[in-house]
Amino acid sequence: MAGIFALLKGFGTCRPTCSPRFGISPRCSVTKEHAHQIGTAISWFIWKGSIFRVPLSTLQRSPQEGGLGLSNVEAKCRALFISRLQTNAEHEGTLTEAWLQQWNMTKVQRNPLDIRLIPRQYEYLRVYAQEMAYVTPRGLTEGRRTYTKRIYDTLRHMNANAAPPREIRMEHLYPGQDWGKVWKNIAKANITDEARSAWYSVVHDCIPTNVRLHKIRMADNEDCSLCGRRDNLTHRLTECGEGKSIWKWTRSRLARVRQTDAQRISADWITRPAFHTSRQLQHRAALCLIANFILYATAHRHRMNLEDFLDFLRRTRWKDEETNRHTFDRVLGHW
Ligand SMILES: [Zn+2]
Repeated sequence: MAGIFALLKGFGTCRPTCSPRFGISPRCSVTKEHAHQIGTAISWFIWKGSIFRVPLSTLQRSPQEGGLGLSNVEAKCRALFISRLQTNAEHEGTLTEAWLQQWNMTKVQRNPLDIRLIPRQYEYLRVYAQEMAYVTPRGLTEGRRTYTKRIYDTLRHMNANAAPPREIRMEHLYPGQDWGKVWKNIAKANITDEARSAWYSVVHDCIPTNVRLHKIRMADNEDCSLCGRRDNLTHRLTECGEGKSIWKWTRSRLARVRQTDAQRISADWITRPAFHTSRQLQHRAALCLIANFILYATAHRHRMNLEDFLDFLRRTRWKDEETNRHTFDRVLGHW
């Protein structure tokens, strides 16, 4: 799912006037089936050939709740559609204005309109009347874009109430964990999009280890194909081959940040990073180091070695913003 965070930055800032990008015409709003198909296409794009994926309903949560803040396609299309209709109706003499006038939909109504009054062939006006019954009218000083965002939020919450999002699998497996802190750490870490994607996949347990593959009968057993031990996530990242010495080095640096003994740094910091360091600089350094460790370990599984990892860190450090370089230098020292 590399690059998904970069993609989302663009997707989230889509202007309400760009409805053609969503395939909306003033004559038809998106149907549930179309929204589902678009959702499937987005999921395919994000996960490519990955076997284990985070469900779309989870991705639509905010980053602080374990999601990616991905748009709810159905709600977004409808919000853009409503906004488009209203923009059209603002121009006198347009057909849309005439239709909305006809059923008195340009003004706030005390009671919702009985949509049976609108002929069936004007389905899009029925949809409009139905949705607008739940949206508070636009404020006098409220910009069109802010209003469209408000329509979107209302429709999204209505969708969520109709079908509450499923509990996140990992939250269900580890109920005692402070998941709010985990998601916040990943969302706020000052790291590259690529490193964040890798960490997100690891925390959601989307790495195809043999333990997971065996559960769905895609592997003969749970053993690691490199060393024969049980191939779970912790083994894959911190115990197998050179991963062990790389994790040992990383752990000693984390201990230095935390000013504690390396034995007190657990591998849970990778898979369920609920830790907090009161000093901001130290906290940032710890998040950066773990995220880059994960990125390296997941991308170089078959050819990990400590020297190469240190080289990888040096290159990351120089690619990063200056503030990050200082973080590394001051907190982690040279290596
Ligand atoms: Zn192994």
